Amino acid sequence: LVGTIIKNLFRVANLVLVAQLGETVAYELRKAYFAQVLRLDLAEFSDRGRGDLMTRCTSDLGHVGQGVQVLFGQAVREPLKAIACFAMAAWFSWRLLALTVFVLPIAVLGIRWLAKSLKRANRRAMEELSGVFESLTETLGGIRVILSLVLGAATMFGVKISDTALTHGQMTAFFAMLAGMGDPARRLSGVFGAIQRASVSAERVYAVLDRRPAIADPPSPTPLPTEWKALRFEGISFQYTPDRLTLEDVSLEVKSGETIALVGPNGCGKSTLLSLPPRLYDPSEGVVSIDGIDLRDVSLDDLRGRIGVVSQQAQLMNLSVADNIAFGRPGATHDEIVRAAQQAHAHRFITERLAAGYDTLVGPGGGRLSGGQRQRLALARAILRDPELLILDEATSQIDVESEQLIHKTLTAFMRVRTTLLITHRPSTLTLADRVVVMDAGRVIDVGTPDELADRCDLFRRLCCQPLRESA
Ligand code: ATP
Repeated sequence: LVGTIIKNLFRVANLVLVAQLGETVAYELRKAYFAQVLRLDLAEFSDRGRGDLMTRCTSDLGHVGQGVQVLFGQAVREPLKAIACFAMAAWFSWRLLALTVFVLPIAVLGIRWLAKSLKRANRRAMEELSGVFESLTETLGGIRVILSLVLGAATMFGVKISDTALTHGQMTAFFAMLAGMGDPARRLSGVFGAIQRASVSAERVYAVLDRRPAIADPPSPTPLPTEWKALRFEGISFQYTPDRLTLEDVSLEVKSGETIALVGPNGCGKSTLLSLPPRLYDPSEGVVSIDGIDLRDVSLDDLRGRIGVVSQQAQLMNLSVADNIAFGRPGATHDEIVRAAQQAHAHRFITERLAAGYDTLVGPGGGRLSGGQRQRLALARAILRDPELLILDEATSQIDVESEQLIHKTLTAFMRVRTTLLITHRPSTLTLADRVVVMDAGRVIDVGTPDELADRCDLFRRLCCQPLRESA
């Protein structure tokens, strides 16, 4: 009874400590993994890449945690149990034990196989060991039958197995010890499977942790000037895939404080061009620079800290409305958040339409809000961020015309003291721009004021002029 109590106390301690260890390892790895995923290049997040990254974070890291638990739990506990049973059996009758092993060629074969397999400490060995332990379990099961032959005998096959015949009690204890060796062997066959699975999963997780993103901080970053004069795209070519140029020899200068609108047919490369200043991608050829400083020489924090991006698909998290706006500037006060929402004409719908106002959870990806409401929150976030360079990629495309006019008023005041690059398909938004860049098939084909372009650029007229006159 005392033995059982002590055993169980140790067993509980073992289970708790080992579970803590396994969970801590998985938690720490998951944190490191998440931080690494945030550093990875955007190109890794294709649909296929995203699923793969998710699997590694969930099921692979789960296997690693379980593997650690098994490694420090069963893999230690079960062999110790087997050794204890073996020692006890030997203590009752080492001769009988030796004979048992001797008369069981299957067991001998199994142990040889085991010894051979143990030499190969690699993944393959793990698989084989699991098989060995399975057969050892079967072998030890057979022991019961053959030993029954020697019950009560002092000699077997002419070999003296003990000085006096073993009592029933001793014999029962001896068998119990042999059976006790079989149980750990059975469990160990599962242990090696789990450890092998964990090691394969750990390889997959570390493959991501060891990836060096192409877009990273330079070894000694150049600080950007506090007040800069111009952002330049010089001879930019870009390709997502080796077989096709998405941008071809694009050159453009954007002066500080200027508002530039990009127009062009679908797929001509507008969004791609605007993904270069925050270095979501680096150009395949050419340089993007601020006051002559190549953006690849600037630290990502310094660069991205000055840029605010509002894309067509406003990215919201399943947090409260206030938290989503506060992403623009972590640590912003509630009043600042409300002011930003007012400027983005989001305050009214937040307070009147949402049950818990600023505390309403927006659902995964902002799914509980309409497209236009999501865009207004994204705008509020950008306004709160107060960036030096604002990038609007069809940021008001889903907002109704009436609200858009109000938002334009806000944006006009907001953009006056900022540099803005915006993509739009709406002629009304062009009124915000100082200059318009017309793009087609990855090239800049004309740059000018809306009036100049209406006079001389066919593509601009086709894309923008008809509705511009109608709205006028
Ligand atoms: P839209 O007006 O429809 O938003 P756009 O002018 O902004 O179009 P981009 O999104 O820059 O066009 O895309 C330019 C080209 O690059 C398209 O042909 C598109 O299919 C391709 N492209 C965009 N993103 C990727 C990507 N991640 N991988 C491969 N090709 C891409």
